[in-house]
Amino acid sequence: LVTRMRPFGTTIFAEMSALAVRTGAVNLGQGFPDTDGPPEMLAAAAEALATGANQYPPLAGIPALRHAIAEHEQRFWGLERDPDSEVVVTAGATEAIAAAILALCEPGDEVVCFEPYYDSYAASITLAGAVRRPVTLRPAETGGRYEFDEAALRAAFGPRTRLALLNTPHNPTGKVFSGEELALIADLCQEHDVFAVTDEVYEHLVFGGEHIPLATLPGMRDRTLRVSSAGKTFSCTGWKVGWATGPARLVSAVQRVKQFLTFVNASPLQPAVAVALRLPDAYFTEFNARMRANRDRLTAGLLDAGFGVFPSDGTYFVTADIRPLGGTDGIEFCRALPARSGVVAVPTQVFYDHQDAGRHLIRFAFCKRPEVIDEAVRRLKGQA
Ligand code: PMP
Ligand code: GLN
Repeated sequence: LVTRMRPFGTTIFAEMSALAVRTGAVNLGQGFPDTDGPPEMLAAAAEALATGANQYPPLAGIPALRHAIAEHEQRFWGLERDPDSEVVVTAGATEAIAAAILALCEPGDEVVCFEPYYDSYAASITLAGAVRRPVTLRPAETGGRYEFDEAALRAAFGPRTRLALLNTPHNPTGKVFSGEELALIADLCQEHDVFAVTDEVYEHLVFGGEHIPLATLPGMRDRTLRVSSAGKTFSCTGWKVGWATGPARLVSAVQRVKQFLTFVNASPLQPAVAVALRLPDAYFTEFNARMRANRDRLTAGLLDAGFGVFPSDGTYFVTADIRPLGGTDGIEFCRALPARSGVVAVPTQVFYDHQDAGRHLIRFAFCKRPEVIDEAVRRLKGQA
């Protein structure tokens, strides 16, 4: 056993999905859609498989995909990228984030992030021998949107800070960082001369506010690696096609690590994701509208079932407070929920260093067909 990985055990997603399979519960735990992505993309993958795109692609990804990634960033976010030097394809966002941290951090360096954090962040930071400096997001007294304390963020930056790792829209809280919050983060990155790595896998899933890539703020393009992935936007979480974009020196640093983690990634899926990234705006708008309706449906259902519910402005997820239902510990509550109600959710407590802040919070995924959400709500209300 690698000593520094010992505390990590099994990820909560594997544990909770296995529990759903074992109990036959409705799985609103792990975030994966229960419908397939755009047919044009699926057809392109089948064609690529049948026509010989089955050997190692280039290290940085096939040119068609790199060009499509660059065009997509230009179309939606106005970011100009050179497809040959400023784009690298990875095994999902997960590999891009891990490779970025391994490439940029020396042992002992510090990474500023927000908690709750996506669980791979803590593991990747630990693998690099770096240290996380989490700043806690807490639901506001009024309105219930997650916020952080400016002084806590300022205090998290110091002489050992190497990078800031930011996820917006944010899993699990559904927070979409505002222009003002991003400006503060950008100022701190520049004041302390550190890099930023942004995880924007939910870039097309914003229902309130606006998605602003940190890289578009003044002074940030040259120090930011922007990470995204096809999994969420095109409902193909099992494909694990992701990417990082940024200035050539940062992208080549990621490539240097990536070549020894996975070397290259699934060749027939790359032309298919290129097709998907080039779909007309209507695809992205309709996808967003469908998920927004799901968000509304699940939020209303959870309120009806007696949970406290925090507004979700983005992602696949909504968080809930179990205390109105007599719960005190999210882990216990989620382990018992399949037997109690036939539903699986994820305790968000496991995504905090300061676990008290999240002890009573759990996360539900709404990237499911409306009838599945309705069935889960019926069960949670004890009506199934
Ligand atoms: N970051 C966040 C915030 C996520 O929710 C996920 C899960 N999709 C990932 C990264 C991992 O993405 P991928 O499956 O593309 O590796
Ligand atoms: N990103 C998804 C989630 O947060 C799935 C993560 C995983 O299974 N590793 O649920």
